[in-house]
Amino acid sequence: MGLLEKKRPAQGARRTSNGSNGRRRRKQAQVIAFANQKGGVAKTTTTLNLAAAFQEAGHRVLCVDMDPQGNLTMSQGIDPDAVEVSMYDVLVHHVSIRDCIAQQEVDVACASIDLAGAEIAMSTQIGRERSLEKALDEVREEYEFVCIDTPPSLGLLTINALTAARAVIVPVQCEYLSMRGLVQLQNTLAMIKENLNPDVEIAGILPTLVDSRTVHAKEAIELLEENFGDQVFASRIRKTVRFAEAPVKGMSVLKYDPDGKAAYAYRQLAREVLGVDG
Ligand code: ADP
Ligand code: MG
Repeated sequence: MGLLEKKRPAQGARRTSNGSNGRRRRKQAQVIAFANQKGGVAKTTTTLNLAAAFQEAGHRVLCVDMDPQGNLTMSQGIDPDAVEVSMYDVLVHHVSIRDCIAQQEVDVACASIDLAGAEIAMSTQIGRERSLEKALDEVREEYEFVCIDTPPSLGLLTINALTAARAVIVPVQCEYLSMRGLVQLQNTLAMIKENLNPDVEIAGILPTLVDSRTVHAKEAIELLEENFGDQVFASRIRKTVRFAEAPVKGMSVLKYDPDGKAAYAYRQLAREVLGVDG
């Protein structure tokens, strides 16, 4: 499952920002979307903490907040209501994504509440599914990973994320496992693969909010493995109050409680995604 092992197929030489056509082209970022149309499954938590774990391992990382609720933006200590340029302006008015990146613990392309209007504003634009993919062209060479948080729906914002991504990580809350929801997500992804982005793949399904004391959580993971086999990550994210505490301080759990089990779990997931170990 090592993402770094899969390279993008060679593309036509891209123009770089200095106008040369990329003879000394740097490696392009791996783009990962975190998606599940169900809310409360730890998409935002996983986007931020896996990004923080990549960064800790020495990689340059950009997080993109595509959720109008702005939870990722908030969890880095930024008030989405006070953001002047947001992903709305990037997607709808084609403002440079650089203009909405805040340099916090990790770099975050910020959301604001008006992002809720982006789906309608984009709906009549030609190429509306590719707005994010295009916007990222400007920063692909500056980062090794771009981690995109998505809203709890399969609307145009999520479709933009899945079209821009090479890999999709699907967090699932083991307490209320919804197989139907996962099948729906797979169907959407199949449509995107066929029509918009043939390279996109599920990197893995991540069991989150695991309460290892309950029989139910164990059964839910077994059911996941029966249905999705080795698509299920070996990493498990257990339930702990640290995940509620860290965002209030504007930090990832890796920064808030660097020696805790929660931080360790996301470091382990980073190793699994990077293909460092199993
Ligand atoms: P989503 O983005 O899918 O809606 P969030 O990442 O916002 O989900 O997580 C939903 C809630 O669960 C948040 O309050 C978050 O702090 C909490 N949470 C996430 N992961 C864990 C965990 N492993 N243990 C306990 N609480 C968690
Ligand atoms: Mg969220």
